[in-house]
Amino acid sequence: MDDLLRDLPALDPGSVWLAGAGPGDPGLLSVLALHGLNQADVIIYDALVDKRILGLARPGARLEYAGKRGGKPSARQRDISLRLIELAREGRRVLRLKGGDPFVFGRGGEEALALVAAGIPFRIVPGISAGIGGLAYAGIPVTHRDVNSAVAFITGHDSSGVVPDSVDWESLSRGAPVLVIYMALKHIEPIAARLLAAGRGEDEPVAVVSKATTAEQAVVETTLGRLAGDVAASGIEPPAMVVVGDAVRLRAGLDWLGALAGRRLIADPLGQKRRSESA
Ligand code: SAH
Repeated sequence: MDDLLRDLPALDPGSVWLAGAGPGDPGLLSVLALHGLNQADVIIYDALVDKRILGLARPGARLEYAGKRGGKPSARQRDISLRLIELAREGRRVLRLKGGDPFVFGRGGEEALALVAAGIPFRIVPGISAGIGGLAYAGIPVTHRDVNSAVAFITGHDSSGVVPDSVDWESLSRGAPVLVIYMALKHIEPIAARLLAAGRGEDEPVAVVSKATTAEQAVVETTLGRLAGDVAASGIEPPAMVVVGDAVRLRAGLDWLGALAGRRLIADPLGQKRRSESA
């Protein structure tokens, strides 16, 4: 490990690493992100980054919270980019640590472009995104040969705070057998309505995966027709992913975390559907 770390790139003074911390479980941090934590003078982190990950910072490193609770998100976003530039210009080694992957609904591209405009050297350190790794912790593979050859990653919330019209719900419903929706809880009712209007079935399986990979991970399994009601009744909390499609059926066989806690898994989770289709 020491040899490996020595050969990894250095976080140079006056530069910024934009790194993903993964969805929660500190074990899912990349070695390169850990290396950044070991070197940084200043770490600018988001709300979804686990405290134990921040605990890996080099002793003496300064931790700055950059979460966007309330306030005007876009103004805050500009402030964050300006802060990164300011710190780099002071000659600091700056680690910008975001939840999941910085380039997946994380505005990492915007921050990186601000660094480009300011002439600040930077490196991108990818992280495990909630829509892939988070679902894996719920036993849901985002692709599976018998289920889907495509998957769509969608935001259920845009900068104006409403169900995004920039999302072509109709085409995605037709074209992507599995839909993985970030930031969907707040607008779950209109989102479900739009998917149903676009032709997805009432009985189609849906899972809501909350706080994935953390000790508080919770999963609600339901159908598209019952989704909004079941979300309200369950009291499930953000951050959560919503996944729509037959991939959800695989959870009956692949909920490995449940199995470690005693759940019995079945080896043919798609069999039930196949049997009912051929009946
Ligand atoms: N860059 C992040 C996504 C940021 S957007 C990534 O790649 O994962 C924030 C949304 O991500 C949340 O609203 C939620 O939909 C999802 N999310 C992030 N962490 C999560 C977690 N541990 N469990 C479930 N959803 C999560």
